[in-house]
Amino acid sequence: MSLCEYCGEKAGWLQSSHPACVAKANTTGQAVKELAFSGILAGKSYEDLSTEAQQALAENKVLFKYVHETLLQGVNDAASQIALQSPISEEELNRLVAILQGFDITAYSGEYSTRRWFAFPQLGMSNILWQVLHHNTPFFDDEVRFNLQSGETPIFQTGETNVMYSEQRTVSGHTRSFGGLSIPVGCGIYYHIGGSQGHQERTSGLQEVDIGGILITSLSLYFGGQKTPFRIPLDRVLRYQPFVDGVGVCESHGAPKVFTFDYRSMDTGWFFYNLLLALTNKPQTNGPEQTITRKAKQSVVNLQNAFDTFQAANDAFTNLLKNAVVKNTTINTEDLAAYTATVESFLQSPKHLKNILSLCQKPQGRDTARPSRVQKQVGQPLYLWTTGG
Ligand SMILES: [Zn+2]
Repeated sequence: MSLCEYCGEKAGWLQSSHPACVAKANTTGQAVKELAFSGILAGKSYEDLSTEAQQALAENKVLFKYVHETLLQGVNDAASQIALQSPISEEELNRLVAILQGFDITAYSGEYSTRRWFAFPQLGMSNILWQVLHHNTPFFDDEVRFNLQSGETPIFQTGETNVMYSEQRTVSGHTRSFGGLSIPVGCGIYYHIGGSQGHQERTSGLQEVDIGGILITSLSLYFGGQKTPFRIPLDRVLRYQPFVDGVGVCESHGAPKVFTFDYRSMDTGWFFYNLLLALTNKPQTNGPEQTITRKAKQSVVNLQNAFDTFQAANDAFTNLLKNAVVKNTTINTEDLAAYTATVESFLQSPKHLKNILSLCQKPQGRDTARPSRVQKQVGQPLYLWTTGG
């Protein structure tokens, strides 16, 4: 008679474990997996997730090793989902890497491809996109295999034989195009894989030309293989086509070039498409920044206007007071009320700030010299006042 591997008690003739023990380990595994999945999406740290998992295991008297694999599936899926959802910051990258390593996903490193556990590379790629979109230079320590031009910074390089370079002979039938949603993020557009993951239809009209490697720099795309290497300056690209496992590059002349990437069954089209798009749109990405700067400037102008109005009201009141003293006239209550209203409306800072914020959100189209809502609001008592005097 053998002992049950789960609880250590006698398992009975012809069985190595109690069916009840196996069932309990499975349910606990599912519970811990869901706990990790939702916790990761909710932004929890490894420490918190680990404590929760350990509590669940202790309550059910199940050892970690029996839930490890199931738990990791949840951990990988959540991290992968975050990586593909939008470009991730350095901080988010660190949190997720700590979770993957904390739950020891590297114990299965030899099986990432067969299990389709791609969270690690996807997080890395997602962060490269974040860096580029934020005008940082991503960390690059590969040996550059092309001669770069001056002022060109290497961003990402594939392996020497990772890329199939094809030419598109017919323009119709892009059945492998993304079905995913596009989400605007920061200064760029980010296409995530969406529902298209796992689609394996073939694009028609692709003629394979060469196998080689790609280097993407701040200014160009280099391809080198068996045949003549070439460089495509990004500013000469008219359009990119997103594919699940590749990217199409359309220049003003010649057949569209399609680069398909072989990353051991991991789809990387989302990464290369977004990366090239972000790098190509770089000069234009100053646009939104300029808009933000303009908005900030506008809010300063608005605030200045409000101050000016207040200052004018104050000056007018001072004059009124001076006149009253010098000419021995009386200040009527209407004037006084108007002044009080001006001061009060200005001093109601939360409301005031809210007004300014709403103005920032709806730029007026001109930078200065247009009466803002703030000015009108504050100005009204002043208007009544000056004509009433
Ligand atoms: Zn048992």
